[in-house]
Amino acid sequence: MEFLNKNTGNTVVLEEDLLFERSHTGACGIGLPKLDVPAINIQKLFQNNLRKNKARLPELSEPEVVRHFTRLSTWNCAIDLGIYPLGSCTMKHNPRLNEEVARSSEICELHPYDPLEWSQAHLQIMYELQEDLKNITGMPGVSLQPSAGAQGEFTGLLLISAYHRNKGKNRKTIITADTSHGTNPASAALAGFNIVQVATGSDGYVTLDSVKAVLNDDVAGMMLTNPNTLGFFEKNILQIAKLLHDNDSLLYIDGANMNAVLGLSRPGDYGADVIQFNLHKTFTTPHGGGGPGSGPIAVSEKLLPYLPIPRVENSNGNYSLNYSFSKSIGRVKAFYGNYGMFIRAWCYIKALGDTGLRQVSENAILNANYIKSQLKDVLHIPVDGNHLHEVVFNDKNLKDKGWDTSKIAKALIDYGIHPPTVYFPLCVKNALMIEPTETESKSELDRFVASLKEILSNGDSSVIYPKRVFREKVDETKAARELKLTYKFKD
Ligand SMILES: *Cc1c(COP(=O)(O)O)cnc(C)c1O
Repeated sequence: MEFLNKNTGNTVVLEEDLLFERSHTGACGIGLPKLDVPAINIQKLFQNNLRKNKARLPELSEPEVVRHFTRLSTWNCAIDLGIYPLGSCTMKHNPRLNEEVARSSEICELHPYDPLEWSQAHLQIMYELQEDLKNITGMPGVSLQPSAGAQGEFTGLLLISAYHRNKGKNRKTIITADTSHGTNPASAALAGFNIVQVATGSDGYVTLDSVKAVLNDDVAGMMLTNPNTLGFFEKNILQIAKLLHDNDSLLYIDGANMNAVLGLSRPGDYGADVIQFNLHKTFTTPHGGGGPGSGPIAVSEKLLPYLPIPRVENSNGNYSLNYSFSKSIGRVKAFYGNYGMFIRAWCYIKALGDTGLRQVSENAILNANYIKSQLKDVLHIPVDGNHLHEVVFNDKNLKDKGWDTSKIAKALIDYGIHPPTVYFPLCVKNALMIEPTETESKSELDRFVASLKEILSNGDSSVIYPKRVFREKVDETKAARELKLTYKFKD
């Protein structure tokens, strides 16, 4: 079995000092030109409020800083180093073509205040992306503004609020399911709603009866992830949508799992009123490490008037920004959203086309089901059914051999594999949620399966994993409770 450590290159790095420890007085990574304006007295400018002692910052040259961070980066699991099967997060390969286009000078040198007549091509890209997202969902309106999945949820909920307020109603309840992502109740609470949660049936689907039981005239809407976080397409979705609509409650679909349904089903066709996309999942804009996300929303006819402004419009090839919608909830993001992400998503959609996008989802489903077929004899599947793009396993039957979810996940790190999502969804005990995505080849999937089987058959469950990495497993409770964020200078 190969280990990632073999692949860290020619440099043998066994330990890394802190920048503070590498600091040497006088080193500097920048050079400033000689002053060519009159010097001013900054003590006076700040009325003697300047700090008394020099800030204690590490002093290093540019190559020292570059090498420090480059070395640290090789300690990581990353999508560019190996399979990253983090369920629900769709960690797929980010095509370099997208990056090439997004980094071109025509795009990077753009300024949001450039006059519209200079920015026609960019408005066209935004307009076309909106149109594509409308087609993908079968819904009549799109806003590109929200900058993350969760912000898309929040925006969608503000629209639902505005819809009811416009009718003179102050509905205060949002229904969520126990298979929903934690952001669903969080966004609803942030938008001022009370949350009622319904439990999924034993087969993994939300039942009509559970929704009926909590539906009343205070319910503004329901948030459902579809496909849900067990990887199933909600089979009662049509009846649930009808039930909600008969009560004038709206249906919010968490679209973070769109990677499973591109070209296969459209939320607009089954009654969704609002859905968010995660461009940084489904549409290959990079994510992880806190990079910018993008969470556009699509809405039904009912919510069109409330969409954020400005909206990109097209009148015979003349693109403009329209601010005059009196019922709009306003802006949810500075300028127009994370434009660099729109470019990447637009490239991806244009490069693949209708049939390519459909194939993405078909292959994502195929890959997940291949993993399921290969692992079903070693890992337990607590809720079995028609899995789409991801499979939730757990550690039942392994406890007597000393293995549990966390231990399996941590041991995978020794094989250069990022751990899957663990202990989520909450409705499954000790969940281990695997989403391979369509960008993994059969041989990568086989390597993953072989690694996992190797761990379970030959690993030592009494060991603290990972053991072949630079940093071993930390005490998670201590790490969260006893933060040590300051460096103690030795002087
Ligand atoms: C990732 C995810 C979200 C949140 O998206 P962010 O961009 O991280 O805010 C919401 N719902 C589901 C199902 C997700 O997988």
